Amino acid sequence: MQNPVDIVLEKSGIRELNPVQKLALENGLLDKKAFVVSAPTASGKTLIAEIAMLKTVLEERKKAVYIVPLRALANEKYEEFKEKYGSFGIKIGISIGDYDQTDPWLANYDIIVVTSEKLDSLLRHGITWAHRIGLIIADEVHLIDSPERGPTLEVVLTRFKKSYNPKILALSATINNYKELAEWLDAEAVESDYRPVKLYRGVCLGNMVSFYPERFVKLDSDEPVKALVEDTLKKGKQVLFFISTRRNAESLAEKLGNVVREHVRKEKKELEKTGKQVLQALEKPTRQCEKLFHCICNGTAFHHAGLINEQRKIVESAFKDGKIKVIVATPTLAAGINLPAWRVVIRDTKRFGGFGMDYIPVLEIHQMMGRAGRPKYDKEGEAILIAKTEKEAEFLWENYIEGEPERVSSKLGVEPVLRTHVLALIASETIRTKQELMEFFSETFYAYQFRNLAELERTIGKVIELLKGFGFVKGETGEFVSAGSLGNSELVATKTGKRVSELYIDPLTANTLIKRMKRIEEEGSNDIGILYSVSNTIEMFPLLPVRKSDIEKINELLNKYEDFLPEKPPNPWDIEYEDYLKGIKTAFLFKEWIEEASEEEILERFGVTPGELRTRLMNIDWLLYSGYELGLLLNLRKTIREMKKIRIRVKYGVKEELLPLVRLRGIGRVRARMLYNNGITSIEKLRKIPLESLEKLTGKALAKQIKEQVE
Ligand code: ADP
Repeated sequence: MQNPVDIVLEKSGIRELNPVQKLALENGLLDKKAFVVSAPTASGKTLIAEIAMLKTVLEERKKAVYIVPLRALANEKYEEFKEKYGSFGIKIGISIGDYDQTDPWLANYDIIVVTSEKLDSLLRHGITWAHRIGLIIADEVHLIDSPERGPTLEVVLTRFKKSYNPKILALSATINNYKELAEWLDAEAVESDYRPVKLYRGVCLGNMVSFYPERFVKLDSDEPVKALVEDTLKKGKQVLFFISTRRNAESLAEKLGNVVREHVRKEKKELEKTGKQVLQALEKPTRQCEKLFHCICNGTAFHHAGLINEQRKIVESAFKDGKIKVIVATPTLAAGINLPAWRVVIRDTKRFGGFGMDYIPVLEIHQMMGRAGRPKYDKEGEAILIAKTEKEAEFLWENYIEGEPERVSSKLGVEPVLRTHVLALIASETIRTKQELMEFFSETFYAYQFRNLAELERTIGKVIELLKGFGFVKGETGEFVSAGSLGNSELVATKTGKRVSELYIDPLTANTLIKRMKRIEEEGSNDIGILYSVSNTIEMFPLLPVRKSDIEKINELLNKYEDFLPEKPPNPWDIEYEDYLKGIKTAFLFKEWIEEASEEEILERFGVTPGELRTRLMNIDWLLYSGYELGLLLNLRKTIREMKKIRIRVKYGVKEELLPLVRLRGIGRVRARMLYNNGITSIEKLRKIPLESLEKLTGKALAKQIKEQVE
């Protein structure tokens, strides 16, 4: 059999391993039980993982699981692995979707790409093939530092380390304390600053850019943003801007269109074609779509979470093909996909955080800078920070060019994170006593870094009491918080507790939701009551902000609907009051959606972007499903019947009367309404209407498709 290194080289069309890859192999990549690689973006870490995976699959006949932080990245890796190794008889699978599915078919796959949340949810349900995993790869492991994503990755790694003992390969960006991570994992570690493309990092002040390694560039004007674009285009290259807010990203992309336009005259037709794809991605183009269309026609684009996935993909691929010359992105792009450009310009080094405007962490800025230089096309790349004053230029230089990235640290120790994971550990019977719970947490990165477990023990104590209070966990109460030591009493999840954990919602949300649903069951409600019960939850955060101009409208709605809401309004001076109003506003967004307000109206009225609307619709779908499942368990029959109906209405964005029609392929909310208004109100009527008449309404192709479905 060919050895894994040869296969990887051959399938990647690469002649020899690069220095990082050699370093990893020389230091025992294939022999050590755990291994950490800390190296810059684009230094070829994925290839290291591929070598290790092939060894596991082909020689050890075990599975390899590849964990990534984002769904978009999972797709990218999955496609890449399938293309390279699928023909080699290796079965590549991906599992990123529905958190209440165990995807049993995964048992037949050799390489499985997952997000950490999905892997966590698989573990909560119990998977039969966990012991057949020979290798776990944690890509972008430095994200263990992220308050949102880090704890899940940390818990998943700890669970595998403790229960199944596979090999672990952790891949990290350049971080200061990779050795600490390695010690936690009991791993061999290698570090390298190798880059396939030489990176010049610089600070721009006025018309002068100073770089490290040393070089200077003088721009034609002291409007740096414009001058940098002009200079890039003159060189026939592309530039990627990072800007802190969506709105500013959009306006800069628009403004730069004036600079880029004359350079893309020849590609005008192509660009218009791409622009039209962006317009067609939604039911009806919104103002944001039109803005993006105009930008693309001029050879620029903005890229942020307000776009829907299809649009982002269109923009990314047009940039990769060299059609779009300038992308102005918010920093989410840096963590997301692989989109290099010859030049990267970071205009905003500050952003709004918990304590006002803060400088962005060095690690994140380095990730953005790391996007400079396209490995296959450029010999070098440039990353430039823009300073407004001399003093700031000095600071940027010291902090971001010469400075080291921060240490990554565990974010596991806080109550909201712990209540979810403690319940999951108890529910999946990974641990059975408080003692075991503490033993588990003593093996986390948190425990490794902070050593002192007393504080953690106290928080866990509080969390257990909370979960008992919710009725999600059974066991002895009391003794442990005050005594400060964990007894050996048995901890068991109740049926509801187990289901909450499987549904992957915060126990606090589950408890609130159950309370609201019980009230609805007793007192009755309507669609707005049900929508509110899932809208004002942590999973829906941030709730829609309530502006002064909204107050009158909300009061009007409250007067009309208050009796249907499953919660009395808190006193206006209580801290919950603000969330209550926001929750109502958020519920009304969904209400308008199922009352068939157009997407454009909703975006306008509630000040959301298309991307945000999609995300919210996905979240509410999950919460309605979870509510339904919990209600089923608790026998809240009337409520779940309504909930089910509303979930389908939310899925299609329609009134109840359109449900039969929208279930057909090719009919969305707009067409269903048009048919209904033309008297075609049921499947029966669709069956009866002559093909020719239907064609007049829907066009030939669709009429045929509809008829095929109903006859
Ligand atoms: P990372 O995971 O470190 O961000 P990737 O593994 O995605 O980096 O590699 C970046 C690019 O470099 C990919 O296009 C990859 O095919 C290429 N590459 C990796 N290793 C080599 C090598 N030894 N020689 C040439 N190109 C390589």
